[in-house]
Amino acid sequence: MLNITPIPIIEDNYAWLLQHEGKTLIVDPGEAKPVIKYLKANQLTLNYMFITHKHWDHVTGIAEIKAAFPQCIIYGTGHHDIPCREIALMGEETFELMGLNWKVWHTPGHTLDHIVFHTQTIDDNGQTQHHIFSGDNIFACGCGRMFEGTPEQFHASLQSIVNHPPSTLIYCTHEYTLANINFALHVEPNNTYTLHRQDMCQSLREENLPTVPTTVGDELKSNPFVRCDQPDVIRAAEHFSGKVLGKPEEVFAEIRKMKDTF
Ligand SMILES: [Zn+2]
Repeated sequence: MLNITPIPIIEDNYAWLLQHEGKTLIVDPGEAKPVIKYLKANQLTLNYMFITHKHWDHVTGIAEIKAAFPQCIIYGTGHHDIPCREIALMGEETFELMGLNWKVWHTPGHTLDHIVFHTQTIDDNGQTQHHIFSGDNIFACGCGRMFEGTPEQFHASLQSIVNHPPSTLIYCTHEYTLANINFALHVEPNNTYTLHRQDMCQSLREENLPTVPTTVGDELKSNPFVRCDQPDVIRAAEHFSGKVLGKPEEVFAEIRKMKDTF
């Protein structure tokens, strides 16, 4: 059974802890202390680390965690220098680790070095459950800032994630959902699913519970950044830019600019 736990770090980041067949893996530990504390409190050791991209809030904890658990092997993007990285991944890799089959692909857009990690499990009903560790690529009802890539690259990266079955779980690394929903409702005020999602997420946050992981299905219904072919999203982007926009990538570029100043 695959166990996946969000460990809150920094202010609004999550490092994801995976346990399977007696092995333990952490994704994007931007801060060491909460991760080490959790592992020790639960009498766990750490076997592996996955790093999606170079930003400080994803890599700062690596060295201190490696010092505490020296046997831990660090897999990270090979498109940039990552502290202590032992295995560089360029994307398009597949490998077996802790009894799971992993697939990695390159998702430039937020940064040029960004990669995502995919694995799958079989649930109690015999159905395949997909899991994607998406870093700062797609967020619940949003996406990362476009620091380095082009709109074409970022749009394609987001599509490579939502191009999975609706039940796919997406483990993103920030608790930005309520702010993202406010923006999504600015773009699509009549999206009843987004309004419903706002109620659900508000209740979760009142209980101090995470609003993530999210699912591909939820994102396709409410995230404007993966709905760039929807009439209301196109209309909002055209109104913002004052231009007629032909392609989803152009719509994406305008929606991303709109969010930057929202
Ligand atoms: Zn980042």
